[in-house]
Amino acid sequence: MTACIFCKMVSGEIQPDVVYEDDDVLAFRDLNPQAPTHVLVIPKKHYSTTNELQPEDAELMGRLVLGAQKVAEIDGLSEQGYRMVLNCNEGAGQTVFHIHMHVLGGRRMNWPPG
Ligand code: 5GP
Ligand code: ZN
Repeated sequence: MTACIFCKMVSGEIQPDVVYEDDDVLAFRDLNPQAPTHVLVIPKKHYSTTNELQPEDAELMGRLVLGAQKVAEIDGLSEQGYRMVLNCNEGAGQTVFHIHMHVLGGRRMNWPPG
């Protein structure tokens, strides 16, 4: 089975622009940024969508949020603010089927999102 593109980043087969990494998560800059900071934080373990998450994955998802917090700190966004987005399935705009949290900031983020 061919690994998904984000799994290839975890394995090192593809080398993204890494911002932060720990045992559980990898954070790298989005190829097509929608804001001055646009980083994707992914769990190193593959899940296609958030629908696959089980109660035992709750801590891992907390680590994803902490990874985003770290990214914001690194890019100097902690005070001005940043947005964390998880798209689930096509209807929400998901195009890569390995869970990823978008961290967006460095410009005014409007609400509601499109
Ligand atoms: P989604 O639409 O699934 O929520 O977000 C997928 C994101 O992955 C998009 O923002 C897209 O620009 C980004 N992306 C897709 N392929 C690559 C890639 O090969 N490298 C990086 N760094 N980002 C990618
Ligand atoms: Zn994957």
